[in-house]
Amino acid sequence: MDAAHINGDLTRVLHTDAEIQARLAELAAQIDADYEGKDLLLVGVLNGALMVMADLSRHLTCHVRMDWMAISSYGSGAQSSGVVRILKDLSTNLEGRHVLVVEDIIDTGLTLAYLIQNLRSREPASLEIMTMFRKPDALQSAVEAKYIGFDLPNEFVVGYGLDYAGRYRNLRDVGTLEPHIYS
Ligand code: IMP
Repeated sequence: MDAAHINGDLTRVLHTDAEIQARLAELAAQIDADYEGKDLLLVGVLNGALMVMADLSRHLTCHVRMDWMAISSYGSGAQSSGVVRILKDLSTNLEGRHVLVVEDIIDTGLTLAYLIQNLRSREPASLEIMTMFRKPDALQSAVEAKYIGFDLPNEFVVGYGLDYAGRYRNLRDVGTLEPHIYS
């Protein structure tokens, strides 16, 4: 679906599908160059990273493997607690592998900080992060993404994999959700 299909639910569109795809093509070119001659494993974090994983991987011109983790954050509501439970672990042994974690959004960075610590203990040859979106609070976090799609304002956004109460993940664009939807 496009923003036109959910007329009234968005305060504004922040990035259109076309802008997202163009930025992914740029990042993919960078990743292609950085991992030339290396075996790359993309690790996606379900469910939000579904769209970015599908699109980024197809912009790449090198072979990649893909694996998935599902995690759930302890704590209430929209506030990230940083205490994470692994619901589905990887099928791949990371030891000696070049790993790129593919994320939808880094907000506080707490979830990813936990995940990175966990993945690092599995002794990959290298471990980097690609995130499609980043919010300002992420700048105070301990984790640093090497590849960043777009910086967003500190607003609750939906689309391109990001949901509110399970909806809007299949919106092609990303935009700010109208506060009346969640208040
Ligand atoms: P963090 O631990 O605060 O970085 O939160 C990361 C997770 O919270 C992301 O992977 C998203 O699933 C979710 N999240 C953070 N901000 C938003 C948002 O604006 N819209 C939808 N989900 C969000």
